[in-house]
Amino acid sequence: MNANTPLWDDGTWQALAPLHGLVTADVCVVGLGGSGLSCIDDLLALGHSVVGIDAGDVASGAAGRNGGLLLPGTADYHHDAVRLLGRARAVRLHELTLEEITRIDAQAPGCVRYPGSVRLSASDEEDGDCTRQYDAMRADGLPVEPYDGPFGHGLFFPGDAAFNPLRRCRALARRVQANGAVLFGRSAALRVDAGVVSTTDGMIHCDRVICAVDGRLEALLPELLGAVRTARLQMLATAPASDVSIPCPMSTRWGFDYWQQLPDGAIALGGGRDVAMDEEWTHDREPTARVQAHLEQVLRERLGVHAPITHRWAANVSYTDSGLPVLAEVRPRVWAIGGYSGTGNAMGALCGRAVARAAFGLPSEFATLVTPLPS
Ligand SMILES: Cc1cc2nc3c(=O)[nH]c(=O)nc-3n(C[C@H](O)[C@H](O)[C@H](O)COP(=O)(O)OP(=O)(O)OC[C@H]3O[C@@H](n4cnc5c(N)ncnc54)[C@H](O)[C@@H]3O)c2cc1C
Repeated sequence: MNANTPLWDDGTWQALAPLHGLVTADVCVVGLGGSGLSCIDDLLALGHSVVGIDAGDVASGAAGRNGGLLLPGTADYHHDAVRLLGRARAVRLHELTLEEITRIDAQAPGCVRYPGSVRLSASDEEDGDCTRQYDAMRADGLPVEPYDGPFGHGLFFPGDAAFNPLRRCRALARRVQANGAVLFGRSAALRVDAGVVSTTDGMIHCDRVICAVDGRLEALLPELLGAVRTARLQMLATAPASDVSIPCPMSTRWGFDYWQQLPDGAIALGGGRDVAMDEEWTHDREPTARVQAHLEQVLRERLGVHAPITHRWAANVSYTDSGLPVLAEVRPRVWAIGGYSGTGNAMGALCGRAVARAAFGLPSEFATLVTPLPS
């Protein structure tokens, strides 16, 4: 068993060196997940020098430890997004996330697949919700079909993507390093102020700081307590399974459980946060017996998979009440992005690229779209 190591890790990455001493850059990006690396990529394109630091290493948080579903839209189903944000905003966010998925594919060649995805209904109530989602997506010209297959019924979304999230982040890290970014691992930001970031053994002098941290964001920037709340999400994975054939990623029970079968037959299965909701609002990131037992039950009884379990892991993400991410200047010249409510693969990259512009006063359509409406 690989203790708290994600299935995605092929063990070939050479760890980043830690920061020792003083370095200077236009921008310090704190957090080297998909969001921080996308931000760095755009900062470099805008002509800024960048130092990036991570408490662990590239994608050692949720960005390298997630379910690998690369889905368009916000954290809410489309009909809910339309209700909460208005139709034009929900549709435009859907379009921008789709464009971002294409960009992610281009930036990390060979990482992304397009098998489509399925939402399975688990109750009469969820049947009705699937119908509302179907109607809203059809009305807006978004691809959706009814689904009825061996694992149940619900909706099929043709063209939806899946990827190896860790491999993608490592490819992006190599790309930004090749373009001039200087990256350090094992260098947690202990103190973040306008113009200076302190780590255990080093210091970064910079004009701007961008904190691209999803889980535990409110620990780094206590101003965001109440705006974001950290949770733990858990997964397991198996050896290649020959007893099932799952053609595309699937989710059920309102997205609380999700799984996919990889091209080699291995199953990656996550979820179960709702079986221990109070316990899972935590900054801890170790798998627990209670949620893992639920995941194992889904694996064995719902999917009928008998292959041995090879990996169990967990990571932190943060949630917002609005379902929209945070993108804000939290202190003078200190910006924060995060709070993707469990679906940050495409949204996080968009936030990263938008904050690279917003931090320098440049317009960003996406930043405008995720700014909460006045209540
Ligand atoms: C089990 C699980 C399954 C998920 N499944 C999906 C899915 O299928 N699809 C989807 O879209 N989303 C999914 N998500 C959510 C998604 O993974 C995240 O929203 C997204 O990856 C966040 O990326 P990020 O780069 O913003 O943040 P993170 O991945 O959290 O990266 C932040 C980085 O900052 C570093 N850091 C933290 N504090 C400090 C500090 N003080 N100093 C320096 N560095 C620091 C961390 O080490 C980390 O590497 C899942 C998440 C989990 C945990």
